[in-house]
Amino acid sequence: MSVLSGIKPEKVFEYFEEICSIPHGSGNTKQISDYLRAFAVNKGLRVNQEPCGNVVIYKNASEGYENSPTVCLQGHIDMVCEKASDSRHNFKKDPLPIAVMDDEVFSRGTTLGADDGIAAAMMLAILDSDEYEHPALEAVFTVDEETGMDGAKLLNYSSIRSRRVINLDTGEEGMFYISCAGGLRGNVSLPVDMKEHTGIEYDVVISGLHGGHSGEKIDRYYANAIVLMGRLLRFLQQRMKFRIMSLSGGLMDNAIPREAGCHILVSNENSTTFEQTIAEFERIVKYEYRANEKNLMIYCENLGENTARVLRNESAKRVMYLLTAMPDGVIKMCRDEGQEDLVETSLNFGIMRLSDERFTLEAGVRSSISSEKYALSTKLRVIAEAVGAEYTEKGDYPAWEYNEDSYLLPMLIRLYESAYGQSPVVRGIHAGLECGVIYNALKPVDIVSFGPTIMRAHTPKETLSISSTQRTFDLLLSLIKELK
Ligand SMILES: [Zn+2]
Repeated sequence: MSVLSGIKPEKVFEYFEEICSIPHGSGNTKQISDYLRAFAVNKGLRVNQEPCGNVVIYKNASEGYENSPTVCLQGHIDMVCEKASDSRHNFKKDPLPIAVMDDEVFSRGTTLGADDGIAAAMMLAILDSDEYEHPALEAVFTVDEETGMDGAKLLNYSSIRSRRVINLDTGEEGMFYISCAGGLRGNVSLPVDMKEHTGIEYDVVISGLHGGHSGEKIDRYYANAIVLMGRLLRFLQQRMKFRIMSLSGGLMDNAIPREAGCHILVSNENSTTFEQTIAEFERIVKYEYRANEKNLMIYCENLGENTARVLRNESAKRVMYLLTAMPDGVIKMCRDEGQEDLVETSLNFGIMRLSDERFTLEAGVRSSISSEKYALSTKLRVIAEAVGAEYTEKGDYPAWEYNEDSYLLPMLIRLYESAYGQSPVVRGIHAGLECGVIYNALKPVDIVSFGPTIMRAHTPKETLSISSTQRTFDLLLSLIKELK
């Protein structure tokens, strides 16, 4: 125990170590939620523990701040549980095996959960102390951010008076988020018919792609394996007859798919043409992606004669229509001054499946402008319905729209510049943050978001910078002090 003792700011690291000793993976936050409640009761602070596990702790203004507007500090208390293949860590009951090396705190073979445990630790250090100056505080600890922001969605906002919110989940010192995208999942489901057919079976796999988070990485213009597979089928269709046995691609709705595969039946006399056509298509797309997908490859293997269930012609046509007609990737870049490198609206097909009855596609639609998100989703619906597919929207969450008249942001920038002697990076993010949900629930509300540097979050190599935590905590203290 006490791996972190003596590291300054001491209270912050003391609480961080305690948080690390309590299992708190997403969906398993009861214990950490109870811990926060007990902390508040212990310190004589008013506390509200919600049924879902969210905790809100209230602290009175320090002397001289009684008339200043209440400020909300916010972070999430769940963490992503990832471990190295040789780790025997049990995220349900073991304390994290944390360690320190040079300027970094990490956990041996597991995620550290500094995303966003360090926010909770900083908030607890402030709640614990009487030496800091600040307005009345509402410290909001939310559960299950990492698995769909359920805590932020379920929060009882009528218990929050603040219209100034400091979110501590940015993960990169010197960067302040000022807006985030909203999103929804668009599910396309097409009923299909199959019949038996005999031919030479081919296994075709498109692979070697980068993939990555469908929001943050969409502006890299990486190839989407599902979209490429659609193009490949269309390319084949214009040259020869073939039958589709199976079709699949992608693993997660919020990741750009790295791989897609299909099994195809062709007639014996067409098999040479088939192989040549695949090779020709591979050359074409390798050229298109010569700069950013150097490992793109299309694997094609002849598995010999087979009799199997394949898509009937009419169904195959509709499947290819959907894959070809749907838009994909970056739809629009932001045109606000200084934000020109921010993706405003985008689309990613994350999952493709084919069963005996249905062909399904799952798309992630994102935009920092709600009306653009719905316009794009409507486009998908119209394309889907044109061939008799059903289209449903799921998991809709709101954007945090840029606030030109923010009071907090210029203040934060000024404090940062005087402490660091340089300007921060101020930008929107093309991904969802809890700020979007909070913004939508409390608006009009002024929100800023920052945090200490966390490297490789969501992986077993996650690290937290100690010096960055020190500076970020100082910045947080000076910000709440300034809000007199
Ligand atoms: Zn986080």
